[in-house]
Amino acid sequence: MWYTIQVSEIAMYFYDISDRVIKGGVTMAKCAICDKGVTVGIKLSHSHIRTKRTWHPNLQRVKAIVDGSPKRIMVCTRCLRSGKVQRAI
Ligand SMILES: [Zn+2]
Repeated sequence: MWYTIQVSEIAMYFYDISDRVIKGGVTMAKCAICDKGVTVGIKLSHSHIRTKRTWHPNLQRVKAIVDGSPKRIMVCTRCLRSGKVQRAI
């Protein structure tokens, strides 16, 4: 059986990497509303072998009203569910 533990220090380190990815113009896994991004942690086995792993937010490409005009943005499903996004039809 595998257990998972999220290590916060490693997660901070990963945010730095994703910032560099934005500057490079590559699409990244980040919510446009709440800035939720990729989290890094470890997979910890019973024999205590540590393997690095990542968690990605569930992002959806939606048409929303941003500053009065419709725009396609990447939003996490939690923001969609809680009604933080004003959808454009
Ligand atoms: Zn969000």
